[in-house]
Amino acid sequence: MKTAIIGAGLAGLSCAVTLEKHGHTADIFEQRKKIGFHYDIAELMTPILHAPIKDAVKFFSETHDIHLKPTSNVQKIYVHSENESAYVEGKIGFINMRGEYEESYEKQLAEQLVHSTIHYDSHATYEDISKEYTHVVLATGNLLDIQQIQPYDLAYPSTFAGALVKGDFVRNEVHTWFNNHFAPQGMGYLLPHSTTHATLVNVYPQYEDDWVHRRNEFWQAMVKQASLNLNQKITIEKEFTITDYMVGKCNYPRIGNTFFVGNCFGAITPFLGFGQTGSILSGIYAAQDICGLGNYEELSKPLYKDYDDSLVLRRAIESLSNHQLDLVTMSLRNSMLKKIVTQPNMSVLKGLSHLLKPFTSK
Ligand SMILES: Cc1cc2nc3c(=O)[nH]c(=O)nc-3n(C[C@H](O)[C@H](O)[C@H](O)COP(=O)(O)OP(=O)(O)OC[C@H]3O[C@@H](n4cnc5c(N)ncnc54)[C@H](O)[C@@H]3O)c2cc1C
Repeated sequence: MKTAIIGAGLAGLSCAVTLEKHGHTADIFEQRKKIGFHYDIAELMTPILHAPIKDAVKFFSETHDIHLKPTSNVQKIYVHSENESAYVEGKIGFINMRGEYEESYEKQLAEQLVHSTIHYDSHATYEDISKEYTHVVLATGNLLDIQQIQPYDLAYPSTFAGALVKGDFVRNEVHTWFNNHFAPQGMGYLLPHSTTHATLVNVYPQYEDDWVHRRNEFWQAMVKQASLNLNQKITIEKEFTITDYMVGKCNYPRIGNTFFVGNCFGAITPFLGFGQTGSILSGIYAAQDICGLGNYEELSKPLYKDYDDSLVLRRAIESLSNHQLDLVTMSLRNSMLKKIVTQPNMSVLKGLSHLLKPFTSK
C-alpha cells in the first residue's frame, strides 16, 4: 500500500498522524515552502455544530490520540447587531492559531508525525499522484480542486476581509457582529490571541458582485463598529482579503481509493463557516478506512448531517433584516436561551433553530 496526501493542512496532517498510529506512513505533498495555513490568523474551534462533541480538544486527545493545545478557551461570546448587544456565557470552544505562528495547529500536528515525509514546495496534481500511489487523499483546502473528479454542491462562495489588530482585549471573550450594512448575510468576529492582539474578520457570501467590490468599504465600517462596541481604538497591523472561498460539499467522500477530506470533503459547516473540527475528523476517518478500521462513507455521515443542518440555519439567518437581527439579539438576553450553549445535553442546532423560528416563519 502506497498512500499520498495532497495538502499539509489540518485534514491532510490529521490523516497522516492517524495512519502512523496504525502502522502506516504517507507521502505528503505541500505546495508551500513550509507548513502552515496561507493566513496568519486566530481561528475559533467550537463544537457547537458537531452534536456529540462537547470539547473538541479533549475529544481528539482522548478518542484519537491527537493532541492540540489551543491559545485560550472562550467563555463569553458577544453578539452585536445594528442597535443591540447581548452575550452568552459557557464552554463556547477554543481559540487557536493558524499559519506561521509557532503554536499553529498545523505545526502542532506536523510535530506529531514520526515517519511520514512532507515534500515541501511540491504542487501536486491528482492526475500525476494517482498514477504512482494506491491510495490518494485529497486535502488541498479548496472544494474546486475536486471538480474534475466528481460533482459537488456549492452553498456559497465567500469574501473575507480581515486583519491582525492591536488593542486591549479579554483573552477568553469573543465578539461577533451581525449587521447587513457591512456584513451582508454574513458576520464579523474578533478573536483575541493575547491581551494586546486579535484577529478581526468580516466575512459574507458573494451573492452580489457589488458586495465583493465593496469589501474595503464594508471592512472600514466593520472596524469602526468594532471600535465603538469595544469602546477603544482598534489599530490595524496586517490586513488580508480573500475572495471566492468556497463553502460546499462533495457528493462522494470516497471514489475508489481516492479520499476527499477537509474543505475538499465539505468540512465547513455553512452556518458560520467553521471548518476546523470537521477537517480534522474527516482526515482521521479517511485514515481509519485506509487502515481497514472503518468505512469512510459511514464514518463521515454525521459530518454530512452537520453540514445539512447548519445549511438550514444559514438560510434562515440570511433571510433576516437588521431589525430582525436586533430582535434575535434581544432575545438572546433571555436566560432560557442562554442555556443553549451552556447546557451539556442541549442540542445547540435545535436551540438555534428554535431561536430563529419566530423570525423566519411567516
Ligand atoms: C480567513 C479564514 C478564517 C477561518 N476561520 C475559521 C474559524 O474561526 N474556525 C473554523 O473552524 N474554521 C475557520 N476557517 C475554515 C478552516 O480554516 C478550514 O475549514 C480548514 O483550514 C480546512 O482544512 P483543510 O485541511 O481542508 O485545508 P487547509 O488547512 O487550507 O490546508 C490545505 C493545504 O493544502 C495545500 N495545497 C493546496 N493545493 C495543493 C497542491 N495542489 N499540492 C500540494 N499542496 C497543496 C495548501 O498550501 C495548504 O497547506 C477559516 C477559513 C478562513 C479562510
